[in-house]
Amino acid sequence: MLRYLFIILIFALMTGCTRAPQATPAATEAPVVADTASQVPADSPTEAALRAFGLVDIQEVDTSIRVHLMYATPDNFTGEVLYDDLHKAFLLPEMADKVAKAQQLLDERKPGYHLIIYDAARPLRIQRRMWDKVKGTPNSRYVSNPDRGRGLHNYGAAVDISILDEQDKPLDMGTPVDFFGPEAHVTLEDTLMAAGRLTEQQVANRRLLRRVMCGAGLRTIPNEWWHFNLMSGNRARQMLKIID
Ligand SMILES: [Zn+2]
Repeated sequence: MLRYLFIILIFALMTGCTRAPQATPAATEAPVVADTASQVPADSPTEAALRAFGLVDIQEVDTSIRVHLMYATPDNFTGEVLYDDLHKAFLLPEMADKVAKAQQLLDERKPGYHLIIYDAARPLRIQRRMWDKVKGTPNSRYVSNPDRGRGLHNYGAAVDISILDEQDKPLDMGTPVDFFGPEAHVTLEDTLMAAGRLTEQQVANRRLLRRVMCGAGLRTIPNEWWHFNLMSGNRARQMLKIID
């Protein structure tokens, strides 16, 4: 019976409703979720704190969006695990809705492709550890100073994101995510393509990402092809609360 309900749920999702129902305390729905092959783990203390802060888990808004948080593994520019107990991508509800909209736009252009989130809400205490790794180096311009401007990740209003193809393989964007160097700069793409440092396909892949993200109402930044903001930094500092 539960399996039957799950099949109905999957069928409903495939026939045009890309948004999964919000997590609900309704007892009748809980067993359907529990019967799925990919069970959603319970919130860790950090995840529970982010939820209590008012943020939402993107995979509860759109189950088709993939999540692989780079700071939850040592495979990031610091070489260390910074997210000890954070594996879910939490965002402000308005931001999560826009990312889900971007997935819908991607579905229309490239059926079978999925957005993949590499970073979302980032508590300020983790921003401090990250800043300590780069301060005093040329790479400090790629990381927000937690004592000054603060980045929109610290408000749940930014994502680091890319695209997986039908085989779940990341599209070639010319650089990895969190690459420190001119090849990551959105504003230099034409120059780098002319110089043979980025291929036409790599730039086309980045344009696809920008088309769906900006089409959903999100904003790009000049020096990181993978990073998108909900609003300007000034507006965030006036309107939003910092996560610590
Ligand atoms: Zn970012």
